[in-house]
Amino acid sequence: MHQLDQILSEVAGYHPSADLPLVRRAYQFAAQAHDGQTRKSGDPYVTHPLAVAQIIAELKLDVASVCAGLLHDCVEDTSATVDQLGELFGKEIAFLVDGVTKLGKLPYSTREEQQAENFRKMLLAMARDIRVILVKLCDRLDNMRSLYHLPPEKQERIAAETMQIYAPLANRLGIQWVKVELEDLAFKYLYPGEYEQLAADVAKTRAERLEYIRHVEKLIHKEMTENGVPCEVMGRAKHLWSIYSKMKRTQRPFEEIHDAIGFRVITDTQMHCYQGLGVAHQTWTPIPGRFKDYIALPKPNLYQSLHTAVIGPRGERIEVQIRTKDMNLVAEHGIAAHWKYKEGSFSSQAEDDKKFAWLRQLMEAQKELRDPTEFLESVKIDLFGDEVYVFTPGGDVKALPKGSCPIDFAYAVHSSIGDHCSGARVNGMIVPLRYQLRNGDTIEIITSPNQKPNKDWLKLVKTARARTKIRYLLRQEQRDKAVVLGTDIVDKALRKHGTTVARAEKQLQHAARELRCVTVDELIIQVGYGKITAQQVLEKALPELDVAASGTSKPAIKTESMLKTLLRKVTRRTSSSGIKVAGEEDVLVRFAKCCSPLPGDPITGFITRGRGVTVHRRDCDKGLDLDPERRIDVEWDGNSKTQHEVAIQVLCSDKPGLLAHISQAFTDQSVNISQAHCRATDDGRAVNTFHASVRDLDQLKQVIRSLTRIKGVYSVDRVSADAAT
Ligand code: MN
Repeated sequence: MHQLDQILSEVAGYHPSADLPLVRRAYQFAAQAHDGQTRKSGDPYVTHPLAVAQIIAELKLDVASVCAGLLHDCVEDTSATVDQLGELFGKEIAFLVDGVTKLGKLPYSTREEQQAENFRKMLLAMARDIRVILVKLCDRLDNMRSLYHLPPEKQERIAAETMQIYAPLANRLGIQWVKVELEDLAFKYLYPGEYEQLAADVAKTRAERLEYIRHVEKLIHKEMTENGVPCEVMGRAKHLWSIYSKMKRTQRPFEEIHDAIGFRVITDTQMHCYQGLGVAHQTWTPIPGRFKDYIALPKPNLYQSLHTAVIGPRGERIEVQIRTKDMNLVAEHGIAAHWKYKEGSFSSQAEDDKKFAWLRQLMEAQKELRDPTEFLESVKIDLFGDEVYVFTPGGDVKALPKGSCPIDFAYAVHSSIGDHCSGARVNGMIVPLRYQLRNGDTIEIITSPNQKPNKDWLKLVKTARARTKIRYLLRQEQRDKAVVLGTDIVDKALRKHGTTVARAEKQLQHAARELRCVTVDELIIQVGYGKITAQQVLEKALPELDVAASGTSKPAIKTESMLKTLLRKVTRRTSSSGIKVAGEEDVLVRFAKCCSPLPGDPITGFITRGRGVTVHRRDCDKGLDLDPERRIDVEWDGNSKTQHEVAIQVLCSDKPGLLAHISQAFTDQSVNISQAHCRATDDGRAVNTFHASVRDLDQLKQVIRSLTRIKGVYSVDRVSADAAT
C-alpha cells in the first residue's frame, strides 16, 4: 500500500487536480484480479503493475496512463475483459490496456537489423496512441529490473529483445534515461562476463573519477558564472553499454577510453547557451570536428543542445553539452515531455494533432536517413496510414504499403510464391486475395503449380514489386498469344500459295531479315501484334509470286480477302486506332460494330482468330458472350485524335422544322453527320437515327445533352451502329 501512496503523491505533484480516486480504484481492481498470483520472485503479482505505474508517474504521464499501467496485465492474465474495464474506468483506459495487451502478443524473433527496424515501426504503427508504447516501455523496464528471477534462457531472450526493440524505441522517442537503463540491464544479461569486467574497471576508478568530476564541475561553473552565464553543471560517467560499444567500435581497452565522462551545462536562455560555448572554447582547446549545433538544427526527435569536446584541465578529452532547462527536459523525457498532462487542455483535438505531428516528423526524418527515395514516397501519406506490418508464418516481419493484399505479401516473400499464389490464410482463416492486410496479421500463402497471375491482380496489388512481376508475366503471356495469332495469320497467307509456315522456313528467314526481325519467331510475333502485315511477309518470303500485284488481280482466296478487308477497315497504328492492347502499341485493332466504343467508354478486347483484336464496350452483350479465354486487356491511348462513328437515335414529335433544330445541335458541337434515317410512326412521332463521328464519350454526351434540350424531342439514345437504319 505504501507504493500506491507514493504514486498518488507523485501524480498529485505534477497534476494537482488529478482524479486520484480513479487511480486508487484501478489499483484495487488490479490487486483483486491478480489476487493469489505471484511473480517469479515470490512477491504478490500486483507489485509488478504497481512498479510499472510508478515508472509512468516518474515520466509524469497523465492519469489514464497511470491507470493503464496498474491494469495492464489484467486482460492478459486474469478473467477481466476489455469491456469490463471500459465500464469501470472509461473507454480511454480500456483502449490503452487493450493496446498494451495486443503489443505483448506479437511474436518477435530476433534476427537481422531490418527485421528489428520493421518491428519497431510496427509497434509504433499499431499502438495508434503513443501512450500505449510508453506504458509498454515502462512494463519492459520493470521486467528487466526483475529479470534476475527468470531462468537463464528466458533472460537471454528478453534481454536480446530489449536491446533490439525497446531500447532503440526509447531512444527514438527521446526518453534518454529509460534507454540508458534498458541498455545496461540488457548488457548485463547478454554479455555477463564483459559486463562484470567493465563494471569492476569502472568501480575501481570510481573514487578517483568522482573527485575528478567534482573538480571539473567546479571549474566549468566558475568560468561560466564569471563570464555572465548562470548555470548548473553536472558531470556524469557514461553508461556501461555506451563505453562497451565504444571499446568495441574503436578496438581499444577501457583505459584508453578517455571521454567516458560527459559534462552538462544547464543554463536559462538560448543566448546563454552560445555564450557558454564561447567560454568553454576560450578556456580549453576545442577538438576540431566535434562541435555540433543541435539548437539551430534539432535532431529528428526534437533534441536540442550544443555539443563540443575540449582538451580538459588534465590534458584529457571532455565532452560538454550546453542547453536550457526546457531543452534538458526534452532530452531526458523525450516524447513523454510532450505528453505530460497540461491542465485544462486535456485531449483537445488540436493538442493531439500537435503531438502526432511531432511523432510524424520524427518518423519521417528517420526514414529520410534510411533511403531518400522511400522517404519521398512515404511523406505523401500519413505516418500511420502508409504502411502495414505483417508476419510470415516463421515470424519475420514484412513492411508493405497500406492497402496491400496477400498477393503483395506473396511477392515480397518470393516471386515464385507470388506467381503461383492461389489463396491466403490470415491468422489461420482463409481470405480472398483482395483482403487488405492489417497490422500484426500472420499471413500464409497457399500456392498451386497451375496458378498464374491475371490482369485482375494488377487492380489489387499496391507494391511496385508485385506489379512489375505480374506485368512481366502478362506480357510474356501476350507474347505467347501473339505467336499463336501471328503463326495463324502467316500460315493462312502462305497456304494460299501452296506452302505453310513449317515448310517455308527458309523463305521466312529471308523475310525476317528483310523486315528487320532477328528471328522468324520475332517476325511472327510482329505479325501477331499487327506491326507487320501478312501481305508484307508474303512479298518478302515469296517475291517470285509477285503477290503485291496478284492480290488485286487474282480473285483472292477467301481468307486473304477477309484479311484485306480487315486491314482496310482497321486503322493500323496506335496513334490512329487510339488503342493500346495489353500495354502494347500497334496491335491490329478493330472496333465492334455492335457497341461502337468511344474513348472514355470502359472497354475490353477479344483476340479474333486471324483478325487481330476486336474492341467491345465492357457492358456489351455480344462481348460478354465471347470466350473469356480470348479476352485481352485494352485501354484507350489518351493522345489519339481519331474520330469514331456512333449511332444516335432521336425520338421526337413529327413536326416541321424540328429536324433542322436537331441537325443544328450536331453542328454546334462540331460533329459531322454521315448518315441520317428518319421515319414517321403511326402515332405522330418520328424516329431518327443519325450516324455521326465524334472524338470521345464527352463529346457524345454533349451532343446528347443539347439534343435532349430541344423542345419536341422525347428521348435521345446511343444505339448500336448495326441498328436498323
Ligand atoms: Mn507486465
